[in-house]
Order: sequence, then structure tokens, then C-alpha cells
Amino acid sequence: MEKISVVIAGPRGKMGREAVQLIEQSEHLTLAGVIDRKYDQQLLSELDGFSSDVKIYTDPGLCFDETIPDVLVDLTTPETGYLHARTALQHGVRPVIGTTGFTKDELNELKELSKEKKLGTIIAPNFAVGAILMMKFSQMAAKYFSDIEIIEMHHDQKLDAPSGTALKTAEMIREQRSSKKQGHPDEKETIQGARGAEMDGMRVHSVRLPGLVAHQQVMFGGEGQLLTIRHDSHDRKSFMSGVKLCIETVMNLEELVYGVENILD
Ligand code: NAP
Repeated sequence: MEKISVVIAGPRGKMGREAVQLIEQSEHLTLAGVIDRKYDQQLLSELDGFSSDVKIYTDPGLCFDETIPDVLVDLTTPETGYLHARTALQHGVRPVIGTTGFTKDELNELKELSKEKKLGTIIAPNFAVGAILMMKFSQMAAKYFSDIEIIEMHHDQKLDAPSGTALKTAEMIREQRSSKKQGHPDEKETIQGARGAEMDGMRVHSVRLPGLVAHQQVMFGGEGQLLTIRHDSHDRKSFMSGVKLCIETVMNLEELVYGVENILD
């Protein structure tokens, strides 16, 4: 099997460090280079905690031209993730984007570009397979329960709210549930935002606290019963089997896929 050559964007980050380790430990994957906003043209091994001798680039275009990778894995920020994905496709590289919070226009643009270049793109709001199952089970439950509150909980360095996973869960539930205003028809918020964000009458709450990693529970209320479906990522290692699956799968795609649930058997 030919090795898949990968560039990681954001290698100094918590996710990026795990991803560099994943590539180094996987026989059929090889690290071609990394994209960072600092340390241009230095070797990754010059930075604390890294042993790989690949070059660091601040210019993604130059990185793709010089290293000619098969896949870009982006673990930076939503704005940068979008720019990196666009540049990757323009240079014939397949993006696997782990950042979330893209606008509809940005998503559509990447979809078009992916199709035009006949190159796979995977946008993965959540790489954790357990979280994907939580979304799928929630979609199943929504067929029988229409009163739903989604509570997502993340560390306090997270930039976007609600999380991409919460949004995706709500979108999947929406396919099974008609719009319905929840709670008392006359309910009033005495503190603005107390009832959370609203999507088709469903409520979405975002908790941000140090000590949390990535957690979500979906609560379904019915007559005399309550169903709670919950997933916890305690460690960023929980995301890595999904990152590997995306790298392998994107090689065989010719269009953009949004969500790991769409590549699971
Ligand atoms: P983090 O520790 O803050 O790491 C982000 C890294 O990106 C930092 O090293 C940062 O560099 C770098 N960066 C920022 N802007 C950049 C740019 N313009 N060019 C190159 N690098 C840049 O965050 P994290 O926890 O690893 O998360 C990274 C991203 O993955 C976030 O968007 C997060 O929401 C997402 N995430 C996704 C999943 C999933 O399953 N899909 C799971 C967890 C996290 P500086 O240190 O210089 O700022």
C-alpha cells in the first residue's frame, strides 16, 4: 500500500500535537511538512516535544508546492481552516478540516471547488466516533420524542458557540422532527439567554468551563419519561481514530463530505 503523505496545520496546538504523533505512529502515513503561523522555515524537531525533521511553513501555498502532500489536516481556527482548505484544493491537495464554524457561503464555495477539482474534502465537526453515534442515536430518538434540549459543554478556550457537533446534531434531528415551540407558551426569560439558543423551537445550550474537554448530552422529554443520550471526550486521543479514518477515506472521494457520520459504514 502506498503511503499517504500528510501536512498538518496547527502542529503546536493540543489537537495538532496528537495528530503529528498519529502520523508518526501509522505505518501507511507520512508527515510531509507542517503549517504554522510562527517558526517559518525552521524544522519541527527544533520545537519542544517534536522529533520529526519536516519543515515548518507559514505560507500554505509554498508548503503544498514544495512538499506535494496528498492530504492537509487542519486543526487551527475556523477562519484559518477555511483559507487553508481553499488553498489546499487550489494546489491539488485534499483537505480534512477539523475546525468548525464556517459560514454557509464558505461551505458552498469549498463544495464547488472540491467538485470542480474532483478532489475529496472532509469537514469533520467531530472526529470522535462515539460522538457520531450519539448524533445518530439522537436522530433515531427524535422520531419518537419531539421535546428536545441539547447541552454541549467544552473547555473555555473554544471560540465558536454552539459547537459544530451541537449544530450538526440539531440538523440531523431536524430531519426527523417538525418545528415545535417548546416550553410554556407564555414563558419569559428574566435573564436574557436563560432558555438557550432556539432552532425550530428546540433549545441549544453552550457551557464553557476550564476542566472540560468536549461533552454533549441530548435530552428527550416525554410523558412520564426522560431519555438522555450523552457522550464525553475526556482526552484528545479520542479524536485520533476519526482523523485517521478521514485521511484514508478522503483519498477515495471526489467531492466534499460534511460530517464523519457520512463516511461510517
Ligand atoms: P489549540 O490548542 O488552541 O491549537 C490551535 C493551534 O492552531 C495553535 O497552535 C495556534 O497557534 C494554531 N493557529 C492559529 N492560527 C493559525 C494560523 N493562522 N496558521 C497556523 N496555525 C494557526 O486548539 P485545539 O484544542 O488543538 O483545537 C484546534 C482546532 O480543532 C479548534 O478549531 C477546535 O475547535 C478544533 N477541534 C476539533 C475537534 C474535532 O473533533 N473536529 C476536536 C477538538 C478540537 P498559536 O499557538 O500561535 O495560537
